[in-house]
Amino acid sequence: MIRAFDIVVVGAGPAGLAAATASAKAGRKVAVLDDNPNAGGQIWRAGAGKSAADRARERAVAAFEASGAVLLGGYQVVDATASPGALQAWMAAKQRVESFQFESLILATGARERFLPFPGWTLPGVFGAGGLQALVRGGYDVRGKRVVVSGTGPLLLAVAAHLKQDGAEIVTIAEQAPMRRLAGFAATLLSRPGKVLQGMRLRGELSSVPYRTGCWVVAARGSEVVTAVRLTDGSRTWDECCDLLACGFHLVPNTELASLLGCRVTDDGVEVNAEQQTSVAGVYCAGEPTGVAGVDAATVQGRIAGLVAAGQTAAAARLYTQRDAEVTFGRAMTRAFALRPELLRLAEPDTIVCRCEDVRLGELEGKMTPRRGWTDAKLQTRCGMGPCQGRICGPALEALFGWRNASVRPPIFPVPIAALCCAPPDDEVSILEPQEMSL
Ligand SMILES: Cc1cc2nc3c(=O)[nH]c(=O)nc-3n(C[C@H](O)[C@H](O)[C@H](O)COP(=O)(O)OP(=O)(O)OC[C@H]3O[C@@H](n4cnc5c(N)ncnc54)[C@H](O)[C@@H]3O)c2cc1C
Repeated sequence: MIRAFDIVVVGAGPAGLAAATASAKAGRKVAVLDDNPNAGGQIWRAGAGKSAADRARERAVAAFEASGAVLLGGYQVVDATASPGALQAWMAAKQRVESFQFESLILATGARERFLPFPGWTLPGVFGAGGLQALVRGGYDVRGKRVVVSGTGPLLLAVAAHLKQDGAEIVTIAEQAPMRRLAGFAATLLSRPGKVLQGMRLRGELSSVPYRTGCWVVAARGSEVVTAVRLTDGSRTWDECCDLLACGFHLVPNTELASLLGCRVTDDGVEVNAEQQTSVAGVYCAGEPTGVAGVDAATVQGRIAGLVAAGQTAAAARLYTQRDAEVTFGRAMTRAFALRPELLRLAEPDTIVCRCEDVRLGELEGKMTPRRGWTDAKLQTRCGMGPCQGRICGPALEALFGWRNASVRPPIFPVPIAALCCAPPDDEVSILEPQEMSL
């Protein structure tokens, strides 16, 4: 069975919800697929609380529901072609792959955290900063736990404030970017009172927590679990005792699906024109895959993509100025939180780099036969060939060695082979119109 829609959106975060709402309000049949059961993406994962983010989620979901677009939660898109417009999605709950057809596709696949390897980073108790926040939102208890938050990016403050609200003791926040760069970035925010207020609110909530700039993690220490974190500011090195380390080095755009479709991808993310159109006809992209710029950028880009895909180009054009300002903000943020070179020298020869396949840095640097690039590393060591398919080690190796994973092949996430074997051949499928199916 194939389900047919005018427009399919991949990702139900702020960008995807805004895109789907705009297209559906313009009268198009729209479906949004997301691998999570609920709408909201990364920032609105929490659900029904009372914070500003919860209220924003409520408004976005209410507008989405009123628009007539449908949400298909629990669908992970693993394969797609632009012409003809078709995609395959793995539905874990039903253990099967389902097919969809579309006239236009909007990619709103978000971003993920960047991890860099350092001694001890695979110890139990060491989490991605956003990952730990997501676990806590899902019920993981951090009450009374001493947590060091380190890495880089505005997410560190948001995570620290959230963990503190949930009863954790934040030992320190170690931000690798130097104060000089952060001060320059803060100056660019003066024309954006909303962001200034948000930053001041977070600093207020964390007023009792040391926030060290120009300070970074050197190693996580402990024999079975993390018990301390070694930090440095470049001139002094010391240990902070802790129960947990939450560590992430800003975000990297999720561009795999766009690459699979043949869209042009640059160092910043998926390349789009003013209309959020990618280099492939009929495929649009919005939000973090086009470059990390935050929730406001994601929302306005999504709205533009949705309007253009529905043929409402004049309405979309009225949003360009707002979008361009958000993109400029995103670029300033990327410059402010750029990685310092010292972070690329933390891993030692026996430090695991690819945690799915247990590949150590020494196997890649190999004194006798250093690996020549990503493909060579994959072939000789299985680096990047585990369940995450290089989503964690890939950006790290790009930062460390400049290697880029150029080849993206379906399925872009692992799928049980039985699910692929059972998919009916194309000539045996019938196409279901949205009004005929029970979602
Ligand atoms: C771990 C994490 C935590 C964050 N926490 C905060 C925070 O607390 N505060 C804050 O201001 N910002 C936070 N951010 C940044 C925030 O996510 C962005 O600013 C904004 O939400 C981006 O919106 P988006 O719609 O582009 O992407 P997202 O909100 O990331 O939405 C993308 C959605 O697409 C889905 N998806 C991706 N690929 C597929 C696929 N192949 N098939 C099906 N579904 C797919 C993802 O599961 C996700 O639900 C966080 C980012 C990350 C990575």
